[in-house]
Amino acid sequence: MAAKTVARAAEESAYTDSEEFKNYIGGEWVKSAKERTFEQRNPASLSEITGIFQASTEEDTRNAIAIAEKAFPSWRGTSPPDRAEILKRARNHMVARTEELAKVLTLENGKTLAESRIEINAAIKEIEFQIGEGLRIYGETVPTSQEGVFAYSVREPLGIVGVISPWNFPFNVPSRKCTPALLAGNTVVFKPASLTPQTGLRFAQLFIDAGLPPGVLNLVTGSGKDVGDVIVSDPRVKAVSFTGSTDVGRRIQQRAALNLTQTQLELGGKNPTVVLEDADMEAAVSATVLAAYACAGQWCTSTSRAIVVKEALKEFTERVVEKAESLRVGNGQDPAVAMGPVCGPAQLKTILAYIEKGKEEGAKLLTGGNRLTGPDFDDGCFIEPTVFGNVTSNMTIAQEEIFGPVLSIMAVKDFDEAVEVANDIRFGLSSSIYTHDLRRALTFLEKTEVGLAHVNLPSALKEPQLSFGGIKESGSGIPEGGKAGIEFFTKHKVAYVKYR
Ligand code: NAP
Ligand code: MG
Repeated sequence: MAAKTVARAAEESAYTDSEEFKNYIGGEWVKSAKERTFEQRNPASLSEITGIFQASTEEDTRNAIAIAEKAFPSWRGTSPPDRAEILKRARNHMVARTEELAKVLTLENGKTLAESRIEINAAIKEIEFQIGEGLRIYGETVPTSQEGVFAYSVREPLGIVGVISPWNFPFNVPSRKCTPALLAGNTVVFKPASLTPQTGLRFAQLFIDAGLPPGVLNLVTGSGKDVGDVIVSDPRVKAVSFTGSTDVGRRIQQRAALNLTQTQLELGGKNPTVVLEDADMEAAVSATVLAAYACAGQWCTSTSRAIVVKEALKEFTERVVEKAESLRVGNGQDPAVAMGPVCGPAQLKTILAYIEKGKEEGAKLLTGGNRLTGPDFDDGCFIEPTVFGNVTSNMTIAQEEIFGPVLSIMAVKDFDEAVEVANDIRFGLSSSIYTHDLRRALTFLEKTEVGLAHVNLPSALKEPQLSFGGIKESGSGIPEGGKAGIEFFTKHKVAYVKYR
């Protein structure tokens, strides 16, 4: 019955007949050849099925790749300004459908409606910037050393590219990847995360309604093994842009290497916010709480470690705990709610296990730590905003990505130790420092081992005009976004012409 409720919302489109959502391959909505399906459930109320989706097979995926291959020559033959026109129309649909898209995002992911709107607005800004960049796919002309020889370089599309996206930013991540890929003249096979397939389908629908020719963007739902792995290991796929966990990213890089398929990997994080004794305490506390608990701590750029010098520790801890306790947790559809559920039972279990581990290893639970219970919570995946104190670098909760609403406060004696602790981690995605001391702020920026660093700003802040990617085990390859956005999806060709 619940499945019907949501399928009805999609009746205006062709994604679905009755209750089943389909794949989009070669300009048509089609079922998986084996007719197997899987269901998605609302993390705020698990008894609600939000949709039934194709559990696609290797055969379906290879079919999508074949169709993308067939569509490539004619898409490549279109001009960048013509491609940009189509993408501008997709952008306009995003604007017009923000509310409808936000509802689906909240239904599948659990984040609050306000957070879903922010995600869609961010995607709109990114697509606008990338459209501009797509019109500037510049090559070079350079003087040569030979008489009567003219030399230049151009940038060409790669061919078929694979896009594999996660559930935590199920709209913005595919947008950030598919837009430059398409603008550069590539065709795409896109696999959304299995926890958020409908958001993926709605994303594809924007491009279909914008008039993207059949076969240029293909969407296949299904598991990482049956769909993701096939995309990555098929030699016809020339590049894979992936956002997700470090373990899956590492495996993708290994598989892709066999065919020299290029990869762009945006992976996990364990991001520090450093607080010095001269920090604007209100700003530091607000930024930490925002970046620790927004989207229930499931941003790849969430702050999960607050590294605080001893002079500031007492005040910072008290204020963070107070703010964390004031956050209202509940169904993200309720505008009064500040933090929604975590995205599904598997996440819930993992996060609760990390909390137990933190207690076992001697961290001090300052607030939270429990699954929420009661009539409003029993059917969903709700966890209290959690703060641990007395956390040290050797503890599991200080080293592994929990990906939930759990903040570890780590005390240090001074700035030098703060930098050491901040870098004592295998990840390198984002970081932040709160201080008014220019010398220490710039020293931190010089020494912090991340792709995205901040001073007096939350660890998650990013804008579309600059690239986005991690180092160490947080990422590999050319980063996304900014000027790099198009770069990853093109190859360089150099030509020498003797004309005299
Ligand atoms: P995940 O388990 O790695 O899954 C990501 C995507 O990969 C999903 O579409 C998944 O499909 C697919 N996949 C799984 N196994 C695969 C395989 N063997 N081959 C190819 N694809 C496979 O990550 P997640 O749990 O969805 O997302 C959370 C992680 O993403 C966190 O670690 C977070 O830090 C990271 N993240 C990073 C960034 C960044 O920019 N650095 C941004 C957002 C999230 P299924 O859904 O079907 O399993
Ligand atoms: Mg996963």
